[in-house]
Amino acid sequence: MKKLIAVRNLRLCTKDCLCLYVCPTGATDTENSIIDTEKCTGCRACADACPGGAISMVPAAEYPPQQKKDVRVLSPSFALAESKAAQEALAARLAALGGGSDFGRLMAALARSVRLVNEDLLRESGYMLPQSGNAHALLKKLAADPPSAAFPVQAARRLLKLLPDNDECG
Ligand code: SF4
Ligand code: SF4
Repeated sequence: MKKLIAVRNLRLCTKDCLCLYVCPTGATDTENSIIDTEKCTGCRACADACPGGAISMVPAAEYPPQQKKDVRVLSPSFALAESKAAQEALAARLAALGGGSDFGRLMAALARSVRLVNEDLLRESGYMLPQSGNAHALLKKLAADPPSAAFPVQAARRLLKLLPDNDECG
């Protein structure tokens, strides 16, 4: 039986994806950034590879479920997410104006960087975003063939429209 499992501290993670390359089981590659404890064998390759010290090995035990976030935390998170979305839109407009110039490329990089921060913010607020090609495909499938009458088809379609597939964005 494994004694240790890996956990990732999202606040220290710089998204360089080294842990995704070294993990032999794919445990580090999840939509919500939480390392899959079922797949983790405790080999610690990810913790050794992580340049930011964002991964720790902890005893493999039953932990209490994650607590729901209080509205006092969620409200400022949503306000910050809105301001980040405005920053991204502004940077994207400046990138378009700058074209292929250094300024344009800097603004394009800024827009992308702000988006990544915002995606983390929303994920921390409890939302799974269809960032990857796989998540896009799943959401499209659910929208086309809803699992129940209560499934929010319109919301799923709008989400797909608003959030580009990051695998395609490159
Ligand atoms: S190696 Fe560390 S910093 Fe890089 S993506 Fe994994 S957890 Fe984040
Ligand atoms: S400890 Fe090993 S198996 Fe577990 S997430 Fe890290 S690299 Fe993957």
